[in-house]
Amino acid sequence: MTTPSRYRGQPVSEGIGVGQIYLGDAPDRANRHPRPATEDEVRAAFAAVALDRAALARQLREHGQDAQASIVDIAALIAADPALIGPAVDAVRGGADGAAAVKAAGEAQAAVLAALPDPDLAQRSGDVRQVASAVADYLGGSSAAPPPAGEFILVRREVDPADLIRLAEAGLAGAVSVGGGASSHAAIIARGLGLPMLAGADPSVLAAASGHHAILDTAAGELIADPAGPDLTAARAAAAASAHAGSPGPGEVRTADGEPVTLLCNVASAAETRLGLSGGAVGVGLLRTEIGFTGASGWPSEAGHLAQLTPVLSLLEGRPAVVRLLDFSGDKVPPFLAGRPARQQGLAALLSAPGMLRDQLSAILIAGRKTQLAVLVPMVRTVDEVSQVRAALAAAAADAGLDPPELGIMVEVAATAAAAATFAPAVDFFSIGTNDLTSEVLGLDRADPGTRPALAADPRVLTLIERVVQAAGTAGIKVSVCGDAAADPLVLPLLIGLGVRTFSVGAARVPQVAQQIAGTDSKAATACAAQVLDAPRPGRVHR
Ligand code: PEP
Ligand code: MG
Repeated sequence: MTTPSRYRGQPVSEGIGVGQIYLGDAPDRANRHPRPATEDEVRAAFAAVALDRAALARQLREHGQDAQASIVDIAALIAADPALIGPAVDAVRGGADGAAAVKAAGEAQAAVLAALPDPDLAQRSGDVRQVASAVADYLGGSSAAPPPAGEFILVRREVDPADLIRLAEAGLAGAVSVGGGASSHAAIIARGLGLPMLAGADPSVLAAASGHHAILDTAAGELIADPAGPDLTAARAAAAASAHAGSPGPGEVRTADGEPVTLLCNVASAAETRLGLSGGAVGVGLLRTEIGFTGASGWPSEAGHLAQLTPVLSLLEGRPAVVRLLDFSGDKVPPFLAGRPARQQGLAALLSAPGMLRDQLSAILIAGRKTQLAVLVPMVRTVDEVSQVRAALAAAAADAGLDPPELGIMVEVAATAAAAATFAPAVDFFSIGTNDLTSEVLGLDRADPGTRPALAADPRVLTLIERVVQAAGTAGIKVSVCGDAAADPLVLPLLIGLGVRTFSVGAARVPQVAQQIAGTDSKAATACAAQVLDAPRPGRVHR
């Protein structure tokens, strides 16, 4: 009998997952000597990806996973499509780099698909991009083996939030990351998807036995490889039970004393949007548009934006849809902006790149025209930034023949929160980003394993939130909280106590948050928040 191996990590998204271990890191490329790909090598790379996807689809069918097999079949067809292979081979013949030629051919075909009026066909553009990226990785020798058929647990040095989205409907049962903590974006997306995840894990997990059965138990803070048979059976039963535990919320939420509360969800993908809506969210309060582009080699085109936005926004007809502009900051900086100082990343980069803001706004207006659309600006530091976006939004709306939607700002920089009254007349709503706000106020790095949503209960953070809520009230504009503290059982009542009545939380958290709101008396919460604001030391808050 094999002895179980145990790897510890910090639980950043709760739950229990069972599946084969999937080591998702690409093989070490340190000893490779890249050279330009030939036309034949490009054709061979497409063929290899087509074969791989066809084999995976067969395996999935053998496991009775017909729906997933059909999705993978489409990828196999795309990888064999002459309309994609031809332009890539032509470009290489003309002297282009192989991986770049494949990606460019993928982008061009994705753009054609994204422009189609049928949302099902438009969604295929994402599949084309994934295939092109797999072929490019294959050419660069940087592709990890594909995930196994059936349920699996992803193990990586640094789990990428885009990985979770890509694999969410392909058998992903949990994730283990050696890097990161509870406030890193992979953890945020894992919570949104309801996937168990450990971060800051013991690095020896990277040498765990690939393909072996494992249990990911976040209550114990462990990944257990080769568990004993009875433990595996019990864990499978627990995982199945917890998958059915999140019953849908009521749609309309009220506190115990009858105060109406609007509950929305945070998403970066169609999978999370479906999950949030089925859990009772009335719409999306934060669409993180940058997550799909964190590996991008340049600014997304309007067609690239449309391809990402259409699958999400087509689910939100008639519902609130708050779409945030690209926030390429912190742990979401793509390679093409990575060399810049932090101050020149994020919003500053978007505003200084000619035409990029216009491209994203046009795509948002088109993809969101049937929703209750609002545009949200991240990491705002000055009123001038708001004015620039407002002017660009007015111009894009005029071009599209539409009325400009509401424009709001993320309040997540301490100085902006402190000056909320100055920003209020320039915007239609505030959305408080407790993740960035808390880490700045407490002087913590978001990637630090010690950073967690509950730290927003610190009086220094709550004082700023109170100020933002009051400034919104005085100016008569809306205010919501979309940082992860809104789904934290310790902080949520305090936010209700400070007067917040709109929350946007990770999609999988909607039912639990609705339940907690329904059990909270707003007057008692106000008294509790007042006590915390008077607390002499943060330690007392937690007690
Ligand atoms: C936040 O900072 O609270 C927030 C919602 O933005 P993000 O987590 O995407 O930085
Ligand atoms: Mg933020």
